[in-house]
Amino acid sequence: MSDIRWHPQSVARGERAERVGHVGATIWMTGLSGSGKSTIANEAARILFAAGANAYVLDGDNLRHGLNSDLGFSDADRAENVRRCGEVALTLADAGLVVLAPLISPFAAGRNAVRRRHHDAGVPFAEVFVATPLRECAERDPKGLYAKQQKGELTGLTGVDAPYEAPESPELLLVTSNRSVGDCAAELVSALSRLWKTDIR
Ligand code: ADP
Repeated sequence: MSDIRWHPQSVARGERAERVGHVGATIWMTGLSGSGKSTIANEAARILFAAGANAYVLDGDNLRHGLNSDLGFSDADRAENVRRCGEVALTLADAGLVVLAPLISPFAAGRNAVRRRHHDAGVPFAEVFVATPLRECAERDPKGLYAKQQKGELTGLTGVDAPYEAPESPELLLVTSNRSVGDCAAELVSALSRLWKTDIR
């Protein structure tokens, strides 16, 4: 490691921000399966994109098709999945994108490590807790995982028979019960635009 040198970029982060009108940032969205992370992330990306921001959804499930296809769902593999997704988010945010990263990311230590990496690199980071109660996630069951678990066809479902550590002080706690997706996405975007004025822009 000591023989590996960090090459500084010839184009500075600020120069990229100047060109597109905003700096890059990572919006880390944590919550149970079915809480609404991906749905809200995609709706928020639409709103941000329409407003002229280069927004991109870095979906943890999608990365499991490629970069993380060697990982399963043991605690160690979940932690490695979060670490790699955090590094990809950091790189994309460094390159100037507003990255919305919906990942269950069940452990506080892993999420905090991603936050620290962003902090150390000087890249804005916000944690959003999509705080849908387990009972409601199980009723929605968009991927059929809760039904499978009930039938004994799946183990290690976060919040059911695998741990989930809720964030203690997220930048935003998003309630989704009895609300539309559009409402939740609008709340997220407006919370971001508050950060935008201070941290992001
Ligand atoms: P996750 O990414 O957290 O696993 P998904 O976004 O894949 O969850 O699924 C959430 C499900 O809940 C979708 O079927 C979505 O239509 C539904 N849903 C109902 N109300 C909301 C809401 N207010 N916000 C987000 N999703 C909602």
